[in-house]
Amino acid sequence: MNQLRVDLYSDTQSRPTEKMRRFMLDAEVGDEQRGEDPSVNRLCKMVADLLGKEDAVFLPSGTMCNEIAYRVKCEPGDEIIVDKTGHALHFESGGPAGLSGVMTRPLDGVRGIFNADQVKAAIRSTGRHYPISRLLSVENTSNLGGGTVWPLERLREVTAVAKNAGLHAHLDGARLMNAVVASGIPAREFAAPFDSAWICLTKGLGAPVGAVLAGSADFIDRAWRFKHQFGGAMRQAGLIAAAGIYALENHVERLAEDHANARHFAEAIAEIPGLSLDLDSVQTNMVYFDTSGSGLSAPQVGERLLAQGVRIGNINDTLMRAVTHIDVDRAGVEEAARLLREMVQS
Ligand SMILES: *Cc1c(COP(=O)(O)O)cnc(C)c1O
Repeated sequence: MNQLRVDLYSDTQSRPTEKMRRFMLDAEVGDEQRGEDPSVNRLCKMVADLLGKEDAVFLPSGTMCNEIAYRVKCEPGDEIIVDKTGHALHFESGGPAGLSGVMTRPLDGVRGIFNADQVKAAIRSTGRHYPISRLLSVENTSNLGGGTVWPLERLREVTAVAKNAGLHAHLDGARLMNAVVASGIPAREFAAPFDSAWICLTKGLGAPVGAVLAGSADFIDRAWRFKHQFGGAMRQAGLIAAAGIYALENHVERLAEDHANARHFAEAIAEIPGLSLDLDSVQTNMVYFDTSGSGLSAPQVGERLLAQGVRIGNINDTLMRAVTHIDVDRAGVEEAARLLREMVQS
């Protein structure tokens, strides 16, 4: 039985809404891997248009979007440049090395955001004894960076350096729509400097499965090959693609509510002695806070909250991360903040 009343563990914890489920039931379907599923085709067209790219492919997960993009562009021994907080570096089971044989070069960004000089300095000279710098991978929003939004100008600067040196530029847009809603900058503007870009349907958008990777027709053609090879080609996938269509049509603007709830929660946390956070990093739906001053470790805080029906994950021994989403309302974040205050004061 689920005693959990407020789940701030991640925006992946949302359940498909009743309306989304009904929409899924009516989806037209076909054989996805033969290109015959009308719902998948429609979703891919929507995302290609949204991101201003020629074509797109529906994949089971965001992880597969990153891993396929790396596999399409890199040879074993090549190097990928990514921020030190990058998802692909920490949370993809070593996929870049395991699936593409590539090395990863972490950059020391601030809140997940690095600059053009850092990219320039990381790009290798040519010479047989060096790995080849092949691809720049950027996360917007940056997850471990705090849910931070890349300034458009900075994105243009870092990708320009990469492209001038012949690198492929890839956008990990797991939460790109959060960046769009928070900044008012259209998705295609954010995606324009990149050769490949994807969005996740299962994070803030609230769909149960899937992500969509977009790029040039050639890039997507190659991506299909690795989709098969990695075991990600599907059949009547229109059922789940429909959830993505529904999410893009109905769940984008509402992300503003998640952002307002995260802000509200962060401001409450900032008032609690013993808990600390960087309020400037709270730009979208994430709130990272530190428990060191409370006398309790982050796992201890997490356990005690859970015993009271509220879940917040911990990143390490002192750092916690709360993420707002469609299944958490204002009352929910207020309850979480109240429990934290009581716990730290007692
Ligand atoms: C969640 C996430 C991914 C992976 O997406 P999955 O659908 O969980 O595989 C990749 N990058 C970032 C920044 C993420 O937050």
